[in-house]
Amino acid sequence: MASSDDFLQCVRDKIPGELVYTQCSSNFAGVLLYYAVAKNNPRLAFPSGECPTIGVGGHFSGGGIGMMMRKYGLSIDRVVDAKLVNANGELLDRSGMGEDLFWAIRGGGGGNFGVVLSWKAVFRALYLGECGSLASTMRDRFPELNMTSADCQPMTWLQSAALSFFSFTNSKPVEDVLLPRPASPTTFSKGKSDYVRHAIPKAVWKEIYASWFTMKGAGVIVLEPHGGFMCGVPEDATPYPHRRGVLYVIQYIAYWMSADGGPAATSWLDGFYGFMAHHVTKHPREAYVNFRDLDIGQNALEDDFGAAENARFWGQRYFLGNYERLAKVKAAADPTNYFRNEQSIPPMANQPRE
Ligand SMILES: Cc1cc2nc3c(=O)[nH]c(=O)nc-3n(C[C@H](O)[C@H](O)[C@H](O)COP(=O)(O)OP(=O)(O)OC[C@H]3O[C@@H](n4cnc5c(N)ncnc54)[C@H](O)[C@@H]3O)c2cc1C
Repeated sequence: MASSDDFLQCVRDKIPGELVYTQCSSNFAGVLLYYAVAKNNPRLAFPSGECPTIGVGGHFSGGGIGMMMRKYGLSIDRVVDAKLVNANGELLDRSGMGEDLFWAIRGGGGGNFGVVLSWKAVFRALYLGECGSLASTMRDRFPELNMTSADCQPMTWLQSAALSFFSFTNSKPVEDVLLPRPASPTTFSKGKSDYVRHAIPKAVWKEIYASWFTMKGAGVIVLEPHGGFMCGVPEDATPYPHRRGVLYVIQYIAYWMSADGGPAATSWLDGFYGFMAHHVTKHPREAYVNFRDLDIGQNALEDDFGAAENARFWGQRYFLGNYERLAKVKAAADPTNYFRNEQSIPPMANQPRE
Protein backbone atom coordinates (compact mmCIF):
# COMPACT_ATOMS: atom_id res chain seq x y z
CA MET A 1 0.00 0.00 0.00
CA ALA A 2 1.30 3.45 -0.85
CA SER A 3 1.47 5.80 2.11
CA SER A 4 0.70 9.48 1.88
CA ASP A 5 4.42 10.14 1.92
CA ASP A 6 4.83 7.75 -1.01
CA PHE A 7 2.26 9.75 -2.89
CA LEU A 8 3.86 13.09 -2.17
CA GLN A 9 7.24 11.67 -3.08
CA CYS A 10 5.81 10.27 -6.32
CA VAL A 11 4.28 13.58 -7.33
CA ARG A 12 7.57 15.28 -6.57
CA ASP A 13 9.74 12.91 -8.56
CA LYS A 14 7.74 11.68 -11.47
CA ILE A 15 7.63 13.14 -14.91
CA PRO A 16 4.44 13.58 -16.93
CA GLY A 17 2.81 10.41 -18.14
CA GLU A 18 4.17 8.28 -15.30
CA LEU A 19 2.07 6.61 -12.66
CA VAL A 20 1.52 7.87 -9.16
CA TYR A 21 -0.63 6.87 -6.23
CA THR A 22 -3.21 9.20 -4.77
CA GLN A 23 -3.81 8.43 -1.14
CA CYS A 24 -7.47 8.46 -0.04
CA SER A 25 -7.37 8.31 3.70
CA SER A 26 -5.50 8.87 6.93
CA ASN A 27 -3.84 12.12 5.94
CA PHE A 28 -5.88 15.20 5.12
CA ALA A 29 -3.27 16.67 2.79
CA GLY A 30 -3.01 13.41 0.86
CA VAL A 31 -6.78 13.27 0.34
CA LEU A 32 -6.67 16.68 -1.31
CA LEU A 33 -5.22 16.01 -4.72
CA TYR A 34 -4.76 19.62 -5.77
CA TYR A 35 -2.97 20.57 -2.57
CA ALA A 36 -0.64 17.59 -2.84
CA VAL A 37 0.23 18.45 -6.44
CA ALA A 38 0.69 22.13 -5.58
CA LYS A 39 3.01 21.28 -2.74
CA ASN A 40 5.20 18.95 -4.73
CA ASN A 41 5.07 19.40 -8.47
CA PRO A 42 2.84 22.26 -9.55
CA ARG A 43 3.65 21.70 -13.23
CA LEU A 44 1.60 18.51 -13.25
CA ALA A 45 -2.09 18.44 -14.04
CA PHE A 46 -4.82 15.86 -13.68
CA PRO A 47 -8.43 15.84 -14.92
CA SER A 48 -10.34 16.29 -11.69
CA GLY A 49 -13.15 18.43 -10.26
CA GLU A 50 -13.54 22.15 -10.76
CA CYS A 51 -13.60 22.51 -7.03
CA PRO A 52 -10.09 21.94 -5.65
CA THR A 53 -11.39 21.16 -2.15
CA ILE A 54 -13.05 17.78 -2.71
CA GLY A 55 -11.49 14.52 -1.55
CA VAL A 56 -10.25 11.87 -3.98
CA GLY A 57 -12.07 9.07 -2.10
CA GLY A 58 -15.62 10.00 -3.03
CA HIS A 59 -14.79 12.11 -6.07
CA PHE A 60 -12.97 9.42 -8.08
CA SER A 61 -15.50 6.80 -6.90
CA GLY A 62 -18.27 8.66 -8.73
CA GLY A 63 -16.38 9.58 -11.91
CA GLY A 64 -14.80 13.01 -11.52
CA ILE A 65 -15.91 15.65 -13.99
CA GLY A 66 -13.94 18.83 -14.46
CA MET A 67 -12.44 21.48 -16.71
CA MET A 68 -10.23 19.08 -18.66
CA MET A 69 -12.71 16.31 -19.41
CA ARG A 70 -13.20 17.19 -23.08
CA LYS A 71 -9.46 16.71 -23.62
CA TYR A 72 -8.51 14.06 -21.04
CA GLY A 73 -11.79 12.54 -19.82
CA LEU A 74 -12.93 11.90 -16.28
CA SER A 75 -10.64 11.22 -13.32
CA ILE A 76 -11.57 7.54 -13.55
CA ASP A 77 -10.51 7.39 -17.19
CA ARG A 78 -6.93 7.85 -15.92
CA VAL A 79 -7.04 5.32 -13.06
CA VAL A 80 -5.08 2.14 -13.75
CA ASP A 81 -5.10 0.41 -10.34
CA ALA A 82 -6.41 0.85 -6.80
CA LYS A 83 -5.99 -0.55 -3.28
CA LEU A 84 -9.30 -1.49 -1.69
CA VAL A 85 -10.36 -2.97 1.66
CA ASN A 86 -13.41 -5.12 0.94
CA ALA A 87 -16.32 -6.14 3.18
CA ASN A 88 -14.25 -9.05 4.57
CA GLY A 89 -11.44 -6.73 5.58
CA GLU A 90 -9.13 -8.00 2.84
CA LEU A 91 -6.70 -5.63 1.14
CA LEU A 92 -6.96 -6.03 -2.63
CA ASP A 93 -5.29 -4.48 -5.62
CA ARG A 94 -6.65 -4.65 -9.17
CA SER A 95 -5.51 -8.21 -9.80
CA GLY A 96 -6.80 -9.32 -6.38
CA MET A 97 -10.24 -7.75 -6.75
CA GLY A 98 -10.74 -8.77 -10.38
CA GLU A 99 -11.91 -6.71 -13.34
CA ASP A 100 -15.62 -6.58 -12.41
CA LEU A 101 -14.98 -4.96 -9.03
CA PHE A 102 -12.25 -2.73 -10.46
CA TRP A 103 -14.79 -1.60 -13.08
CA ALA A 104 -17.44 -0.91 -10.42
CA ILE A 105 -15.29 1.22 -8.12
CA ARG A 106 -14.40 3.57 -11.01
CA GLY A 107 -17.69 5.47 -11.18
CA GLY A 108 -20.23 3.34 -9.27
CA GLY A 109 -20.26 5.85 -6.39
CA GLY A 110 -18.48 6.05 -3.03
CA GLY A 111 -19.46 3.95 -0.03
CA ASN A 112 -20.61 0.94 -2.07
CA PHE A 113 -17.96 -1.70 -2.59
CA GLY A 114 -15.29 -1.12 0.04
CA VAL A 115 -12.85 1.51 1.22
CA VAL A 116 -10.41 2.69 -1.42
CA LEU A 117 -7.07 3.38 0.22
CA SER A 118 -5.28 4.65 -2.86
CA TRP A 119 -5.77 5.14 -6.58
CA LYS A 120 -3.00 4.64 -9.08
CA ALA A 121 -3.41 7.11 -11.88
CA VAL A 122 -1.58 8.68 -14.79
CA PHE A 123 -0.58 12.29 -14.28
CA ARG A 124 0.00 14.58 -17.21
CA ALA A 125 1.57 17.95 -17.71
CA LEU A 126 -0.75 20.54 -19.13
CA TYR A 127 0.12 23.01 -21.81
CA LEU A 128 -2.82 24.72 -23.41
CA GLY A 129 -1.09 27.58 -25.19
CA GLU A 130 0.25 31.09 -24.86
CA CYS A 131 -1.51 34.43 -24.60
CA GLY A 132 -0.68 35.37 -28.20
CA SER A 133 -2.35 32.31 -29.74
CA LEU A 134 -5.37 32.62 -27.44
CA ALA A 135 -5.79 36.29 -28.34
CA SER A 136 -5.71 35.47 -32.04
CA THR A 137 -8.26 32.64 -31.64
CA MET A 138 -10.50 34.94 -29.64
CA ARG A 139 -10.16 37.66 -32.29
CA ASP A 140 -11.30 35.18 -34.96
CA ARG A 141 -14.09 33.49 -33.01
CA PHE A 142 -15.36 36.20 -30.65
CA PRO A 143 -14.34 39.55 -32.18
CA GLU A 144 -17.07 41.34 -30.24
CA LEU A 145 -15.07 40.80 -27.02
CA ASN A 146 -12.09 42.84 -28.29
CA MET A 147 -9.74 40.64 -26.30
CA THR A 148 -5.98 41.19 -26.57
CA SER A 149 -2.88 39.59 -25.00
CA ALA A 150 -3.03 42.27 -22.32
CA ASP A 151 -6.23 40.64 -21.00
CA CYS A 152 -4.47 37.29 -20.45
CA GLN A 153 -2.48 36.07 -17.52
CA PRO A 154 -0.41 32.89 -18.09
CA MET A 155 -0.80 30.37 -15.27
CA THR A 156 -0.53 26.69 -14.42
CA TRP A 157 -3.53 24.38 -14.21
CA LEU A 158 -3.35 24.56 -10.43
CA GLN A 159 -3.40 28.34 -10.38
CA SER A 160 -6.37 28.37 -12.75
CA ALA A 161 -8.23 25.91 -10.51
CA ALA A 162 -7.55 28.10 -7.50
CA LEU A 163 -8.52 31.21 -9.45
CA SER A 164 -11.86 29.84 -10.60
CA PHE A 165 -12.83 28.81 -7.11
CA PHE A 166 -11.16 31.16 -4.63
CA SER A 167 -10.37 34.38 -6.51
CA PHE A 168 -6.69 33.43 -6.39
CA THR A 169 -4.51 36.43 -7.28
CA ASN A 170 -0.97 35.08 -7.50
CA SER A 171 -0.04 37.16 -4.48
CA LYS A 172 0.72 34.06 -2.41
CA PRO A 173 1.72 30.43 -3.09
CA VAL A 174 -1.15 28.46 -4.59
CA GLU A 175 -0.98 25.79 -1.85
CA ASP A 176 -1.82 28.44 0.74
CA VAL A 177 -5.31 28.79 -0.71
CA LEU A 178 -5.85 25.06 -1.41
CA LEU A 179 -5.40 23.68 2.09
CA PRO A 180 -7.28 25.82 4.63
CA ARG A 181 -10.80 24.65 5.51
CA PRO A 182 -13.35 26.47 7.68
CA ALA A 183 -14.07 24.57 10.89
CA SER A 184 -17.80 25.05 10.40
CA PRO A 185 -19.65 25.84 7.19
CA THR A 186 -20.99 29.33 6.72
CA THR A 187 -23.01 28.42 3.64
CA PHE A 188 -25.52 25.62 3.22
CA SER A 189 -26.38 24.19 -0.15
CA LYS A 190 -28.43 21.62 -1.99
CA GLY A 191 -27.76 20.40 -5.52
CA LYS A 192 -29.30 18.51 -8.40
CA SER A 193 -28.12 17.60 -11.88
CA ASP A 194 -29.36 17.04 -15.41
CA TYR A 195 -27.86 16.04 -18.74
CA VAL A 196 -28.66 17.78 -22.01
CA ARG A 197 -28.53 15.86 -25.30
CA HIS A 198 -30.52 18.31 -27.49
CA ALA A 199 -29.71 22.02 -27.55
CA ILE A 200 -32.05 24.11 -25.43
CA PRO A 201 -33.60 26.85 -27.63
CA LYS A 202 -32.43 30.43 -27.13
CA ALA A 203 -35.96 31.53 -26.24
CA VAL A 204 -35.96 29.11 -23.30
CA TRP A 205 -32.66 30.53 -22.04
CA LYS A 206 -34.10 34.03 -22.29
CA GLU A 207 -37.07 32.92 -20.22
CA ILE A 208 -34.76 31.29 -17.67
CA TYR A 209 -32.71 34.45 -17.25
CA ALA A 210 -35.73 36.73 -17.11
CA SER A 211 -37.73 34.67 -14.63
CA TRP A 212 -35.87 31.96 -12.72
CA PHE A 213 -32.75 33.97 -11.93
CA THR A 214 -34.67 36.96 -10.70
CA MET A 215 -36.70 35.01 -8.13
CA LYS A 216 -36.29 35.06 -4.39
CA GLY A 217 -33.98 32.22 -3.36
CA ALA A 218 -32.44 31.93 -6.85
CA GLY A 219 -29.22 29.94 -6.86
CA VAL A 220 -26.77 29.21 -9.67
CA ILE A 221 -26.34 26.66 -12.40
CA VAL A 222 -23.11 25.40 -13.92
CA LEU A 223 -23.02 23.93 -17.43
CA GLU A 224 -20.12 21.53 -17.95
CA PRO A 225 -19.45 20.59 -21.60
CA HIS A 226 -19.01 16.95 -22.55
CA GLY A 227 -17.98 15.78 -26.03
CA GLY A 228 -14.34 15.50 -27.17
CA PHE A 229 -12.55 12.67 -25.35
CA MET A 230 -15.75 11.87 -23.44
CA CYS A 231 -17.51 10.69 -26.61
CA GLY A 232 -14.80 8.20 -27.46
CA VAL A 233 -15.20 6.14 -24.29
CA PRO A 234 -17.93 3.49 -24.60
CA GLU A 235 -20.89 3.86 -22.22
CA ASP A 236 -20.13 0.57 -20.51
CA ALA A 237 -16.35 1.01 -20.20
CA THR A 238 -16.90 2.47 -16.72
CA PRO A 239 -20.10 2.86 -14.67
CA TYR A 240 -20.30 6.55 -15.74
CA PRO A 241 -22.53 6.25 -18.83
CA HIS A 242 -23.25 9.85 -19.83
CA ARG A 243 -20.84 9.96 -22.76
CA ARG A 244 -21.68 9.91 -26.48
CA GLY A 245 -24.35 12.44 -27.43
CA VAL A 246 -24.25 14.41 -24.18
CA LEU A 247 -23.79 18.14 -24.81
CA TYR A 248 -23.33 19.12 -21.19
CA VAL A 249 -24.29 18.36 -17.62
CA ILE A 250 -26.18 20.98 -15.63
CA GLN A 251 -25.36 21.35 -11.97
CA TYR A 252 -28.06 23.24 -10.04
CA ILE A 253 -26.99 24.72 -6.72
CA ALA A 254 -29.28 26.39 -4.21
CA TYR A 255 -27.51 27.97 -1.26
CA TRP A 256 -28.38 29.90 1.85
CA MET A 257 -26.51 31.42 4.78
CA SER A 258 -28.86 30.80 7.68
CA ALA A 259 -31.63 28.35 8.52
CA ASP A 260 -34.40 30.76 7.54
CA GLY A 261 -33.00 31.06 4.00
CA GLY A 262 -33.43 27.33 3.35
CA PRO A 263 -37.10 27.18 2.32
CA ALA A 264 -36.83 29.90 -0.37
CA ALA A 265 -33.64 28.39 -1.83
CA THR A 266 -34.89 24.80 -1.91
CA SER A 267 -38.26 25.81 -3.27
CA TRP A 268 -36.47 27.70 -6.09
CA LEU A 269 -34.38 24.59 -6.76
CA ASP A 270 -37.39 22.26 -6.89
CA GLY A 271 -39.40 24.65 -9.08
CA PHE A 272 -36.58 25.24 -11.55
CA TYR A 273 -35.75 21.53 -11.72
CA GLY A 274 -39.43 20.86 -12.48
CA PHE A 275 -39.41 23.49 -15.24
CA MET A 276 -36.26 22.03 -16.82
CA ALA A 277 -37.81 18.55 -17.17
CA HIS A 278 -39.01 19.47 -20.68
CA HIS A 279 -35.54 20.42 -21.89
CA VAL A 280 -33.25 17.70 -20.58
CA THR A 281 -32.86 13.92 -20.96
CA LYS A 282 -35.98 11.82 -20.38
CA HIS A 283 -36.78 8.14 -19.78
CA PRO A 284 -34.71 8.13 -17.72
CA ARG A 285 -33.90 11.67 -16.67
CA GLU A 286 -30.16 11.23 -16.24
CA ALA A 287 -28.31 12.45 -13.14
CA TYR A 288 -24.65 12.46 -11.97
CA VAL A 289 -23.97 10.23 -8.99
CA ASN A 290 -21.41 12.60 -7.46
CA PHE A 291 -24.08 15.29 -7.27
CA ARG A 292 -26.10 13.06 -4.95
CA ASP A 293 -29.81 13.80 -5.06
CA LEU A 294 -31.78 11.92 -2.44
CA ASP A 295 -35.03 13.33 -3.86
CA ILE A 296 -34.85 10.90 -6.77
CA GLY A 297 -35.16 7.83 -4.53
CA GLN A 298 -33.64 6.12 -1.51
CA ASN A 299 -33.12 2.64 -0.12
CA ALA A 300 -35.43 1.47 2.65
CA LEU A 301 -33.86 1.67 6.10
CA GLU A 302 -34.53 -1.99 6.86
CA ASP A 303 -33.31 -4.93 4.79
CA ASP A 304 -35.47 -5.28 1.77
CA PHE A 305 -35.39 -8.33 -0.46
CA GLY A 306 -36.59 -6.30 -3.42
CA ALA A 307 -34.04 -3.53 -2.80
CA ALA A 308 -32.13 -3.94 -6.05
CA GLU A 309 -35.35 -3.73 -8.05
CA ASN A 310 -36.64 -0.79 -6.02
CA ALA A 311 -33.36 1.04 -6.51
CA ARG A 312 -33.48 0.47 -10.25
CA PHE A 313 -35.54 3.64 -10.71
CA TRP A 314 -32.91 6.02 -9.37
CA GLY A 315 -29.98 3.67 -10.14
CA GLN A 316 -30.73 3.84 -13.86
CA ARG A 317 -30.82 7.60 -13.69
CA TYR A 318 -27.25 7.59 -12.41
CA PHE A 319 -25.90 4.63 -14.39
CA LEU A 320 -28.30 3.88 -17.29
CA GLY A 321 -27.65 0.31 -18.56
CA ASN A 322 -24.72 -0.12 -16.15
CA TYR A 323 -26.99 -0.25 -13.10
CA GLU A 324 -27.69 -3.96 -13.38
CA ARG A 325 -24.01 -4.87 -13.68
CA LEU A 326 -23.23 -2.73 -10.62
CA ALA A 327 -25.94 -4.51 -8.59
CA LYS A 328 -24.55 -7.89 -9.66
CA VAL A 329 -20.97 -6.89 -8.82
CA LYS A 330 -22.30 -5.71 -5.45
CA ALA A 331 -23.92 -9.13 -4.86
CA ALA A 332 -20.60 -10.85 -5.58
CA ALA A 333 -18.37 -8.41 -3.66
CA ASP A 334 -20.58 -7.51 -0.69
CA PRO A 335 -23.51 -9.97 -0.52
CA THR A 336 -24.51 -8.97 3.04
CA ASN A 337 -24.69 -5.30 2.03
CA TYR A 338 -22.13 -4.29 4.64
CA PHE A 339 -21.38 -1.01 2.85
CA ARG A 340 -24.74 0.70 2.60
CA ASN A 341 -26.34 4.11 2.77
CA GLU A 342 -29.45 5.86 1.48
CA GLN A 343 -28.35 5.48 -2.11
CA SER A 344 -25.83 2.64 -2.08
CA ILE A 345 -26.33 -0.03 -4.71
CA PRO A 346 -28.17 -3.01 -3.24
CA PRO A 347 -26.94 -6.53 -4.09
CA MET A 348 -29.09 -7.93 -6.86
CA ALA A 349 -29.32 -11.30 -5.15
CA ASN A 350 -29.91 -9.77 -1.71
CA GLN A 351 -29.55 -12.16 1.25
CA PRO A 352 -30.56 -11.45 4.86
CA ARG A 353 -27.64 -10.57 7.18
CA GLU A 354 -26.80 -13.12 9.91
C1 LIG B 1 -18.10 22.42 -3.43
C2 LIG B 1 -18.20 21.17 -4.25
C3 LIG B 1 -17.76 21.17 -5.58
C4 LIG B 1 -17.82 20.00 -6.33
N1 LIG B 1 -17.34 20.01 -7.62
C5 LIG B 1 -17.30 18.86 -8.33
C6 LIG B 1 -16.76 18.81 -9.63
O1 LIG B 1 -16.29 19.80 -10.17
N2 LIG B 1 -16.77 17.63 -10.30
C7 LIG B 1 -17.26 16.49 -9.73
O2 LIG B 1 -17.21 15.44 -10.37
N3 LIG B 1 -17.81 16.51 -8.50
C8 LIG B 1 -17.84 17.66 -7.80
N4 LIG B 1 -18.39 17.67 -6.54
C9 LIG B 1 -18.97 16.44 -6.02
C10 LIG B 1 -17.89 15.57 -5.40
O3 LIG B 1 -17.25 14.81 -6.41
C11 LIG B 1 -18.58 14.61 -4.41
O4 LIG B 1 -19.17 15.36 -3.37
C12 LIG B 1 -17.60 13.59 -3.86
O5 LIG B 1 -18.35 12.61 -3.18
C13 LIG B 1 -16.57 14.21 -2.94
O6 LIG B 1 -15.73 13.23 -2.42
P1 LIG B 1 -15.24 13.30 -0.88
O7 LIG B 1 -14.34 12.13 -0.66
O8 LIG B 1 -14.71 14.66 -0.64
O9 LIG B 1 -16.65 13.21 -0.15
P2 LIG B 1 -17.20 12.42 1.10
O10 LIG B 1 -18.44 13.15 1.48
O11 LIG B 1 -16.14 12.17 2.12
O12 LIG B 1 -17.64 11.02 0.47
C14 LIG B 1 -18.67 10.88 -0.44
C15 LIG B 1 -19.06 9.39 -0.51
O13 LIG B 1 -17.94 8.63 -0.93
C16 LIG B 1 -17.59 7.69 0.09
N5 LIG B 1 -16.12 7.66 0.19
C17 LIG B 1 -15.31 8.67 0.61
N6 LIG B 1 -14.03 8.25 0.59
C18 LIG B 1 -14.05 6.97 0.14
C19 LIG B 1 -13.04 5.98 -0.08
N7 LIG B 1 -11.77 6.24 0.16
N8 LIG B 1 -13.42 4.75 -0.54
C20 LIG B 1 -14.72 4.47 -0.78
N9 LIG B 1 -15.72 5.35 -0.57
C21 LIG B 1 -15.38 6.59 -0.12
C22 LIG B 1 -18.24 8.17 1.36
O14 LIG B 1 -18.55 7.09 2.23
C23 LIG B 1 -19.51 8.81 0.83
O15 LIG B 1 -20.50 7.82 0.57
C24 LIG B 1 -18.35 18.83 -5.76
C25 LIG B 1 -18.81 18.83 -4.44
C26 LIG B 1 -18.72 19.98 -3.70
C27 LIG B 1 -19.19 19.95 -2.26
